[in-house]
Amino acid sequence: RSAPIRSRLLGKKGPTVRSSANIRVVVRVRPPNHKEQGDNSRDVVKIVDDQVLIFDPKCQSQAFFYHGVEQKGRDLLRKANKDMQFMFDRVFGFESTNCEVFENTTKGLIQSLMDGYNCSVFAYGATGAGKTHTMIGQTDNPGITYLTMAELFKAKQDLQEERKFELGISYIEVYNELVQDLLNPGAPLQLRDDGRYGVMVAGIKVHKIDNPDELFTLLAKGNGNRTQHPTDANAESSRSHAVFQVYIQMEIKATREVRAAKLSMIDLAGSERGSATGYGGARFAEGANINKSLLALGNCINSLADGQKYIPYRDSKLTRLLKDSLGGNCQTVMVANVSPSSLCYDDTYNTLKYATRAKKIKSDVKKNVVNVELHAGEYVKIVEDLKKELERV
Ligand code: ADP
Ligand code: MG
Repeated sequence: RSAPIRSRLLGKKGPTVRSSANIRVVVRVRPPNHKEQGDNSRDVVKIVDDQVLIFDPKCQSQAFFYHGVEQKGRDLLRKANKDMQFMFDRVFGFESTNCEVFENTTKGLIQSLMDGYNCSVFAYGATGAGKTHTMIGQTDNPGITYLTMAELFKAKQDLQEERKFELGISYIEVYNELVQDLLNPGAPLQLRDDGRYGVMVAGIKVHKIDNPDELFTLLAKGNGNRTQHPTDANAESSRSHAVFQVYIQMEIKATREVRAAKLSMIDLAGSERGSATGYGGARFAEGANINKSLLALGNCINSLADGQKYIPYRDSKLTRLLKDSLGGNCQTVMVANVSPSSLCYDDTYNTLKYATRAKKIKSDVKKNVVNVELHAGEYVKIVEDLKKELERV
């Protein structure tokens, strides 16, 4: 009879709930840029409906390809017409807005967070595919990080009668396997296991936030401290992973149940080098560290998709950090970003394959009802429960 109480003291996770949809994989096709509207480019992504797209569709008229063909055009033709259908939880086209992406992806995570589940959001794709546009966006078109946070504050407001909330954030960059605090730049930081929130960055300053304005100021500051400004499509920024994390602690006033949940939103490094070196390939180019985290993420996704017991989270900084945010105790959203153009043929194809792989991840989602470090109020409650139990004996 005392088992549940013991498990609470030992910090066991709550009941396991099987979820059929704990990863949501969506693809966003950005509009063609100036170069992609030229003669050397053709569309290789055809959106069929809001879930299906065809990569490299069969062309009705071969003449289309020969129009103004030079050597490059012939190369394109040689590998043309894969005509592969892909299906995702959602496909967003050129005209999609960040609001629409938010409504159909991360908005659904808010309830999970309120229920005490960890959640993570990844923007995956080659440099220039639209990751930062999706995650951060612009002032007049905020990305899903902002929109999700605004929704989180709304939920906090709506539930304030019922719960006490504490919200804290951190914003870090993983670059060349070094972890940097984007909000307090300094020496690289180490990772450690934390009872309540899982893996944490040792020595990181978690910033308490009470309103969206404070958050926006912090996010802007962090973005300014990235290795290069994230909206620059240059070599440096494309090699860093920006990891924005929100720590949510809630105490249900009536029951004094304490729930903790963590939301991680990640603007990943460009995936192009991942495919260039070949995932799992033995030889690495110079500075292989740059890719190590992305490579490890791919390996973890593969292992999770295959239902393997051992997941190589420890292989990189990024995957260690996301150990409790990918598979297991977590709800995940992956936004795979692609260009529509043949100029990005391999990148788009690799991203679609990667995203398809990620779709196969299924696992048990556990609730962080009470974790190792108990809130003082929680000890009082447990002692009361124990007393009641003794009275019943
Ligand atoms: P990444 O972060 O993947 O390297 P960016 O988000 O910086 O790519 O996008 C590259 C360029 O394309 C930027 O100028 C960005 O504003 C533009 N862009 C990306 N996605 C979209 C979109 N869905 N709609 C309009 N412009 C976009
Ligand atoms: Mg970017």
